[in-house]
Amino acid sequence: MNRTQIIYDEFGPEYILEVYDPKLKFRGILVIDNTILGPAKGGIRITPTVNIYELVRLARAMTFKNALAELPFGGAKAGLVLDLSKITWEKKKEIIQSFSRALKPFAPKKYIAGPDMGTGEREMQWFSEANGSWQAATGKPANLCLKIFGKKEKKCGLPHEFGSTGYGVAWAAKTAADFIDLDLNKATVAIAGFGNVGIFACKYLHQLGAKIIAVSDSQGAVFQKQGLNPSELEKLKKSGKSIIEYPLGKKLKREEIYELETDILIPAASADVINQNNVNKVKAKIIIEGANIPIPEKYEEILGQKGILIVPDIIANSGGVISSYAEYRGYNPKKMFETVKKKIVKNTETILREAKKQNLSLRQVALKIAVSRIKKG
Ligand code: NAD
Repeated sequence: MNRTQIIYDEFGPEYILEVYDPKLKFRGILVIDNTILGPAKGGIRITPTVNIYELVRLARAMTFKNALAELPFGGAKAGLVLDLSKITWEKKKEIIQSFSRALKPFAPKKYIAGPDMGTGEREMQWFSEANGSWQAATGKPANLCLKIFGKKEKKCGLPHEFGSTGYGVAWAAKTAADFIDLDLNKATVAIAGFGNVGIFACKYLHQLGAKIIAVSDSQGAVFQKQGLNPSELEKLKKSGKSIIEYPLGKKLKREEIYELETDILIPAASADVINQNNVNKVKAKIIIEGANIPIPEKYEEILGQKGILIVPDIIANSGGVISSYAEYRGYNPKKMFETVKKKIVKNTETILREAKKQNLSLRQVALKIAVSRIKKG
């Protein structure tokens, strides 16, 4: 792919910035897709392969996600081309600080950073401190607080490690299940990907009464018809092991999870996991997109034609950016979780209702709503 293949349209991308630090020898990229609704919000992804084209797609998804969640943010995404297994913690800190200083003309006025793959609360603290503004990044640590001058109040960080995205995914699932009269207390769930999103989706769906019959990570999947124990799985994962070391259940190849007999399937790992190889083998009634772009649109259409309800990523996983907004406004964790639930339930209900009325897919309705909000400004 070359640069001329980037599609510029009525929304953006407004800026594509590439930076290189000759001293630290790293490349960074910032794509600001659209700022009509406010400063562009999007995480910093660190992988050895991150590139402009991937970031352009992800930044556009953020533009729509923020508009759908009715947040005063545009969409962006940033990337650092780095292999984290090859650098030290200290070097990573220097790189984040340098990248932050390079983006200072944009952040926080036009760009607000957040965590993504390879970054978390610690990196957001480094980014914000190097920029010199509290507002430059969200997803900062909970013990990092800003005293508001002259007032007793203080604003504190709301890290994504609190689980806002998985919590929102669980509520999107509950709302979709209610819509098709599927009793969550009798429903089965399979979760592909057991990281930040998967762990919390698992925990909250279990609390809502669902039976988690399968989970997977990069090493494989574990399946148990009678239900898995979410806290045991979480303990295992947090001890640095793979979920395939869970002592009970049947071990499967990681791709087999998409083909299981389950009421609800939650892809919560990487992109394009449902594709030409397995689209005809999916048996779930509902798919909740915890990951970003887990199913290319043409396969979503095929699944939709079979009557499978798909709550798209731009609604289902917006808990993270809603938490970012809560942090930006200085909410406490309780108010953040309430805001995530309220917005995700309302938006999921709206797209379910309108899709039925207009005979469109949930994604088509979601995009129509997002586009009209952005056009109104
Ligand atoms: P993470 O790095 O915490 O966890 C990813 C998990 O997926 C790990 O358990 C990993 O072992 C597993 N995995 C990797 N490749 C896999 C594969 N091919 N099959 C099965 N499992 C695999 O990441 P995360 O923060 O949970 O993010 C997951 C997805 O959700 C990404 O697409 C991310 O962009 C999206 N997302 C995350 C957030 C957030 O707040 N964390 C918000 C919105 C969207």
